[in-house]
Amino acid sequence: MGLEDDAREYHRQEPSGKIEISTTKPTNTQRDLSLAYSPGVAAPCLDIEADPERVFEYTAKGNLVGVVSNGSAVLGLGDIGPAASKPVMEGKGVLFKRFADIDVFDVELDLTDVDAFVETVAAMEPTFGGINLEDIGAPACFAIERRLSDRMDIPVFHDDQHGTAIISGAALLNAAEVVDKDLEDLEIVFSGAGASAIATARFYVSLGARKENITMCDSSGILTEERAEAGDLNEFKREFARDIEGGDLADAMEGADVLAGLSVGGIVSPEMVRSMADNPIIFAMANPDPEITYEEAKNAREDTVIMATGRSDYPNQVNNVLGFPFLFRGALDVRATEINEEMKRAAAEALAELARQDVPDAVVKAYGDEPLQFGPEYVIPKPVDPRVLFEIAPAVAEAAMDSGAARTDVDAEQYRERLEA
Ligand code: NAP
Ligand code: MG
Repeated sequence: MGLEDDAREYHRQEPSGKIEISTTKPTNTQRDLSLAYSPGVAAPCLDIEADPERVFEYTAKGNLVGVVSNGSAVLGLGDIGPAASKPVMEGKGVLFKRFADIDVFDVELDLTDVDAFVETVAAMEPTFGGINLEDIGAPACFAIERRLSDRMDIPVFHDDQHGTAIISGAALLNAAEVVDKDLEDLEIVFSGAGASAIATARFYVSLGARKENITMCDSSGILTEERAEAGDLNEFKREFARDIEGGDLADAMEGADVLAGLSVGGIVSPEMVRSMADNPIIFAMANPDPEITYEEAKNAREDTVIMATGRSDYPNQVNNVLGFPFLFRGALDVRATEINEEMKRAAAEALAELARQDVPDAVVKAYGDEPLQFGPEYVIPKPVDPRVLFEIAPAVAEAAMDSGAARTDVDAEQYRERLEA
């Protein structure tokens, strides 16, 4: 049987799906039940009515994330609708649980209208400690996330935008270090101008790259002022329109230090890689097939090429699972009201820092004993590295406290020890 049939069987096995609810308190006796439900349950209800913050003390809200989608941009499958997206959303819940012990309700909404979607999710605030928006198409995803973040007092995070931004941002910090270039000097080309490319470009600027050094291409070529004036670009693409001559991706890549690919597979040639500046950094992140393969990019030149892809079978995998579980872990543990720029930057910097440290033997073994040492082939930690939890979540919690997003404080050292235990 191939992977597809195995996956069907995996999901179909009784009980169907991948998740279930389990209880955390005794439910054996009549008394247990009268504590769990009526009449005993009235006492915590009234306490919460008197002091809404106590909902965190008495309910699962503080460890519960809503993974919310309308199925409009699912994986690379496109607009397959909310019901067909459910296996993906359950899967996201599995990752939250497995990597950060966070519980998830997956919520698939049969809504395409932005206003209706925003109203519906905003109304769920009492239920959740955080909202992970998932697989919602651009440009609707930008407005949805912004409006919900403004309205809600819990973190709202669209992983398809920021996950990639944060993980590849960490890789960029380290890659620049390896090739000894400053972030502010990097000429950066984006292939793609969709949800993940726009968010990633914004985040690179937040990390220290210069907006005027970013050239972005969509399927029609470079985003220019001329195209903006011709009404050819949506408001998010206009943000990155440059006052330069038009051209295609090959023109944009000439002399560039960095290519960030968030578009489609196979559109970058070895020729284009050869036209880049010395020791180029190439993040070819289209899934499942990168803009250019690892081998082609490496073999295109004699000097160092730092290459990352979305794939697990090559070095430097940009995998969102390095981000969202730990961002939410840190945010939930200080009852954060948002996941802000400071918290995202803290996550990227902590990830970058972790990749510079020695790797435990257990992690090396899990990767077939390939040597993992800071350098061109290792600028991002591996997803199975257990240290990611202890490093990223406290960094995020601390950034939340420092930036005023935390509702409660934790002692960073004690918190770290608690996570390691
Ligand atoms: P999206 O919103 O649909 O955006 C795709 C973008 O690619 C669009 O701007 C599109 O141009 C552009 N494009 C299509 N063909 C192109 C071409 N021949 N040359 C240049 N640009 C082209 O999708 P997304 O969510 O941002 O995801 C984009 C890609 O990144 C997908 O392959 C996805 O799997 C991958 N991704 C990877 C990771 C990861 O590795 N962790 C995370 C997120 C996304 P138009 O605007 O003109 O249509
Ligand atoms: Mg996704």
